[in-house]
Amino acid sequence: MADFETQVVVIAGGPAGLCAAVQAAEDGAEVILLEKNAAVGGAANMGMGPLGIGTKYQKRQMYDITVEKALKMFMEYTHYNVDGRLIKRYFEQSAETIEWLEDMGVEFEGAYKYFTKSEPTWHIVKTDQGIGPRAASFMNKALYARGQELGVKFLLETAGKKILKDEDGKVCGVVAEDKEGKEITIACKAAIIATGGAGANPELIQKETGYKFGEDMFNFAIPGNVGDGIRMAWEAGVDHVPVRIEQAANFEGIDELPQSIPNVLMQPNLLVDLHGKRVMDEEEMQNTTFLSNAASHAKHRKLFSIVDSSIVKYYMRNGVDEISMVRTNPDVSDFTEGVRMAAETGNKGLFVADSLEELAEKTGIDQENLLETIEEYNDYCDSTDEEFFKRKKYLRPLVKAPYYAAAIRPGGYGTVGGIRINENCEACDSEFEPIPGLYAAGADACNIYDDSYMFLLPGNSMGFAVNTGRIAGMQAVEYIDDED
Ligand SMILES: Cc1cc2nc3c(=O)[nH]c(=O)nc-3n(C[C@H](O)[C@H](O)[C@H](O)COP(=O)(O)OP(=O)(O)OC[C@H]3O[C@@H](n4cnc5c(N)ncnc54)[C@H](O)[C@@H]3O)c2cc1C
Repeated sequence: MADFETQVVVIAGGPAGLCAAVQAAEDGAEVILLEKNAAVGGAANMGMGPLGIGTKYQKRQMYDITVEKALKMFMEYTHYNVDGRLIKRYFEQSAETIEWLEDMGVEFEGAYKYFTKSEPTWHIVKTDQGIGPRAASFMNKALYARGQELGVKFLLETAGKKILKDEDGKVCGVVAEDKEGKEITIACKAAIIATGGAGANPELIQKETGYKFGEDMFNFAIPGNVGDGIRMAWEAGVDHVPVRIEQAANFEGIDELPQSIPNVLMQPNLLVDLHGKRVMDEEEMQNTTFLSNAASHAKHRKLFSIVDSSIVKYYMRNGVDEISMVRTNPDVSDFTEGVRMAAETGNKGLFVADSLEELAEKTGIDQENLLETIEEYNDYCDSTDEEFFKRKKYLRPLVKAPYYAAAIRPGGYGTVGGIRINENCEACDSEFEPIPGLYAAGADACNIYDDSYMFLLPGNSMGFAVNTGRIAGMQAVEYIDDED
């Protein structure tokens, strides 16, 4: 005998689960949403907003980004090693989803680029505190309120554990555990898995990706995101597709430092590996996935961004070259104070030295090569960058002590992928056949980037979450209607 009976069970209340629940309820279904934590929103409570393509904001801002252009860019970027139909459906729905969110009270600042070379697809949610991290928590609040208004039953502090199937292989229930550790069973006709990936599960990360959390991978680990949904899907017979890290470079020890330190050291100056050699056109550092990939490829998965005191002084007088939307205060006036704090707290990511020889010794960079690289680099600053062709405006010589270096390591927002879905967000077996009544959305099912997150179209992973959540909700109701 089940403890509850409903039509659709949504497992988790991040943006994918919230959108799935609201959409299914709007389409007339009875819905129960299970959320492991005491609050909804998941990782997206830390983020700023989803992707939209062809939205009114882009049209108003005269940006020409169409589904056709975005899809072609996406397919070329991923070498067609992805499900083009799923991406097309997601992109096609994305503009309407921005309006759907607005209809329930979400406001947007506009459509933004993440960095100069990206497209303005990032729809940053408006808050009462201006643009900045956590803005998307306002979107989650609106989704939660809309779900309550539509009669979705939210069971908080209740974790989904297992998908139940009947003798015909159709979904017929979900087993969950409430906050007292009591097992509950919910009878249903369809289940939607959206548990946000496995960013907080070091064992799964190592097994699936080879990275060791805290050693050569420094990703965000949102408590609760341990891969429950991926495991449940695999146990229910869903095909196992690769789990990847949604890479974003990590400045080691950044959380303990004032923003002025990363504001200076994440500018496109000199970037070297442990051999003391440059690895890329540093302008591309703005794409944090590319920077994380470059760090992953380097010896001991480590790179160093280096500036001298004349560059610091230049930034103090004139402001930094590139202002990040994430570190919204570009001020660098307390850089010296930040360096002092870093020394006092024994920060592991920032190195300060009175000579280049000392900097090499402190960081472990090959000294001879570092001196040679900087001599060459300083020459390029007077002419052109013959090595990586960096634009003149970012070429500033390193000539004056003290010198500062930041250790850059591979990092990420969490994991993406694991569950095979098709364009209808139906969870499929290894024959690509849908498991009747089973759907997945968001990070658990986000297999669309191949080996590298697509930051050229920013807002992509939250965009995928909200849109696949909606698709899963719509399709689940359609399935139930057909069954009835
Ligand atoms: C700092 C940061 C900033 C980011 N900024 C952006 C951004 O601006 N734009 C963008 O596109 N992306 C951004 N991302 C990524 C984005 O947040 C994720 O892609 C998105 O949140 C994924 O949504 P989701 O619903 O799949 O998972 P999540 O948002 O992670 O939600 C998963 C939910 O599942 C719950 N859960 C887990 N297991 C269970 C279980 N067994 N039963 C019930 N519930 C369970 C969790 O508690 C959580 O609430 C950011 C990520 C981070 C970490």
